[in-house]
Amino acid sequence: MKRKKVIDEIYIPDVGSQVETIDGKEYLITNDAMYTFFRRTKGEFSAFFLALKNEKRLLGCRCTKCGIVRVPPFLTHCPDCNFAPTEMIEVEQVGIMNSTPPITYFATSLFQHMAPYGRGRVIFGGADTAMSINLYTTTGILVPGIIKKGTEVKLIFRDERIGEMIDVFCVPAAELTQEKIKKNGLQESEIDWETPQEPSLPVASEEDSNQYRKALDEMKGLIEDMNRNESARKAIAGWKRDIQVKTRGGQFAIMIDDGDIKLTESVLSSHDFIMVCDDISTLFDGLAYRGAITDSVINKKIWISKNMEFNTIFKLDRMARFLVRSKKV
Ligand SMILES: [Zn+2]
Repeated sequence: MKRKKVIDEIYIPDVGSQVETIDGKEYLITNDAMYTFFRRTKGEFSAFFLALKNEKRLLGCRCTKCGIVRVPPFLTHCPDCNFAPTEMIEVEQVGIMNSTPPITYFATSLFQHMAPYGRGRVIFGGADTAMSINLYTTTGILVPGIIKKGTEVKLIFRDERIGEMIDVFCVPAAELTQEKIKKNGLQESEIDWETPQEPSLPVASEEDSNQYRKALDEMKGLIEDMNRNESARKAIAGWKRDIQVKTRGGQFAIMIDDGDIKLTESVLSSHDFIMVCDDISTLFDGLAYRGAITDSVINKKIWISKNMEFNTIFKLDRMARFLVRSKKV
């Protein structure tokens, strides 16, 4: 049964944008949802947002007197030069991190679909000021240390753009070919997100193998327990993922399918993502609710091949929590 929303569908505008022409000038109008709805004009800054949206260009404003270039172009007149007018100019799409970006793993509902993401300030070539922008990596999960103050980054355009700051984000230039770094208006679909470099695992000693065997058997029991537990099943309702897990002692697969979870000792012919976990007990402890798996990912004890699959890790943590709670009752 379709659940009815508190606010009727007809009052909820579609996400998108349109241009209104007033006195021969184009102004961009976008629809934002903040649980209250309003039309908001980008006003004098329409040119900046329209350039991002339609031309995949990054604009700044240059003071006609002192020459300072501000990106984004948030001033039409320079306060340092007795309010001399500024002019729009195009700047480069490669820049340097002005600070080390914090990473948001647990976002509010409005930003959840973008997490995990870094948020930092970039000085693009030709600009004198830094622009706030979201940051990602093509190397798997975004963790501290990948993007730092001084890291060279490249501006990337979303395939679908509506004329908002989230139309663009940056990735480290070192992850791209020279050709892609040079290309202006590079889009997300032109980047290889599918072949991140997996962390290598040390060769297992006999002791490692024995530990692996023991932990794997216990983990199988735990996952069977989860599979039978109505409360735990709720955490993965409607979710379907095949995860190949690689550890020092060996590899196995965890399959999630709308409430069902199972562990098989196999190498999957295809998977949704890869998890590399040197010590199997790190994952086992997380599933047994002895510390969170999300923490182990953030602390680089567990690596996942796709950044957005942090969401799946979050669900595994919930499963562990729901299982323990249901047993306390
Ligand atoms: Zn000036």
